[in-house]
Amino acid sequence: MMTAQIDPDADSIPLCQTPHIPAKKEILFHGIPASAGICIGQVFLYDGLTVDFSAPPELKKIHLDHIDSEILLFESALDSTRDEIKQLKNKIGKSISEQDAKIFDVHLLIAEDRQLHDGVVQSIRKDHYTAECAFILYVQRYLAAFAAIKDPYIQERASDIKDVSGRILGHLRHETSSVETESLPKDSIIIAKDIPPSDVALLDFNHIKGFAIESGSRSCHTSILARSMGLPAIVGMHSITNHAENGDTVLIDGSLGMMILNPCQETLVFYREKINRNNELMRILRESSANVAETTDGYRVQLCANLIHAEDVDECLSNGAQGIGLLRTEFMFLNTPVAPDEEQQYQVYSKLLKAMGGRPVTIRTIDIGGDKLSYAYSAKEANPFLGQRAIRLTHVRPELMRTQLRALLRAGIHGDLRIMIPMVTNLQEVEEILELRDELVTELQYQGLPHNPRVKIGIMIEIPSAALIADELAKIVDFFSIGTNDLVQYTLAVDRMNENVSYLYQPGHSAVLQLIQKTVQAARRHNIYVSVCGELAADPYFVPILIGLDVLQLSMSPSSIGPVREIVRRISKIDAERITKNAMSADHAASALMASREYIQDHAADVAALLS
Ligand code: PEP
Ligand code: MG
Repeated sequence: MMTAQIDPDADSIPLCQTPHIPAKKEILFHGIPASAGICIGQVFLYDGLTVDFSAPPELKKIHLDHIDSEILLFESALDSTRDEIKQLKNKIGKSISEQDAKIFDVHLLIAEDRQLHDGVVQSIRKDHYTAECAFILYVQRYLAAFAAIKDPYIQERASDIKDVSGRILGHLRHETSSVETESLPKDSIIIAKDIPPSDVALLDFNHIKGFAIESGSRSCHTSILARSMGLPAIVGMHSITNHAENGDTVLIDGSLGMMILNPCQETLVFYREKINRNNELMRILRESSANVAETTDGYRVQLCANLIHAEDVDECLSNGAQGIGLLRTEFMFLNTPVAPDEEQQYQVYSKLLKAMGGRPVTIRTIDIGGDKLSYAYSAKEANPFLGQRAIRLTHVRPELMRTQLRALLRAGIHGDLRIMIPMVTNLQEVEEILELRDELVTELQYQGLPHNPRVKIGIMIEIPSAALIADELAKIVDFFSIGTNDLVQYTLAVDRMNENVSYLYQPGHSAVLQLIQKTVQAARRHNIYVSVCGELAADPYFVPILIGLDVLQLSMSPSSIGPVREIVRRISKIDAERITKNAMSADHAASALMASREYIQDHAADVAALLS
């Protein structure tokens, strides 16, 4: 039973009216939330191995007699770089997931690139440049070509190239790594223009509390690593390195994407209390993870976890997840140059199913496309969110779906597996998948490979057309899971990544609520279960509405499960239905949530604050 009640009014940042003049002015910055959590520490300005490749190199030439030795110098720098990357992979592989450590395979591929080798060698032979000069000129040409493409994925690859090139240059110049992690003060918060993932690997994590980085996106490698390490991080913090100085006190809130430089005493006191309260509340919630998520009048909801990496299963169980509602398998494919084969996928899925000990495990087939781009699989398109995303990739890369479905059908003997298909727009797409399933079952039977032909197959409802034909779809699938992140985007024609139109991204819009309601009603009529696995499932003001709409399963990030469970336990189904009716009849999206906000503030403000 919960005891902690926290003053909800304490949740705004206080204005500093301190009589002590702080040594430096408190400044507030906003960036992109990359990894959740709050931390306070000291600035450590990091410029590590990042080399500025934009400056023109000194055009040094060599004597003809030195051509061979210069080529040898370059080749040995490449060798040393490759060895270094392999060592880094071994080192970091122990502290992060196997999947994340694959970032270093990408780096290895760059260092092994034949074109890079031949281009530089040719320039040494033909133009008689030193190895260093020939190499810098080559990298500059490469980066200039990348800079012309304003695409987040390409920009991330450019940063990988800079990272590896910085290493090669270091070896050409016989420099050793400038990362002296032992010299990092305890409680360092790394502030950098850019910090390549391989440099992250060199850092001593006992000394680091978080990151704030000028470049990057939520999906860049450094953000992925920060999340794997459980360190708060913010990216896209423009010009932050111009303001921060080594040793400055800094506070970062990775959930809000907010950083306060030189926080004054009152701000520090406020945030330290907030950290303590959050930790204490989270501890209590974790301890009560055996509590059922049941409203005061007996309506039970199943709370499941969304996972990016199957290896993070312990985090789900310790927070009391009753199952996995969504495993985003595309992340197994995004950071590696080669798609995992059937056997590798089978191992990952089987291990997860066994670890979940018979609880339901929903594994989504790859949702590559949209903002999760990989040109290893999808073509370059003008509108990737409306292009060959997810199930649509099956038409261009049928082997991806075949391999994944075979691995899933085989893994299905190890637990309660549910296969989920994303981005469904019509019946035909689902019929084709079911036919493929039948064909693969026959194939596996013929090959004598153990498999489960009765694995449940369901679909994501995240496109309005699917919600509108939910009755037809419900006849042929085993379950629905509503992907509200995309449902809002596609219903309201608002790019979920574009901050210029974010004011229109309104999940409370009546059109969205009606589509959710229609989907749930269709599922009920056809006796299949319906889940919500988009972000709304852990939005404190939507929990009553989803319950009011009769959703049976909510799936969210593992750390949100405790707070959502507590919210469910403090509300009643009758109130939730009243609030939902109110929301459905509101004229404006802004007013749709009013009743729910008031209700949650009255009943669960302390736990709601952990989610916002
Ligand atoms: C969704 O769209 O709500 C969803 C859960 O999928 P994703 O965020 O991966 O697109
Ligand atoms: Mg989606």
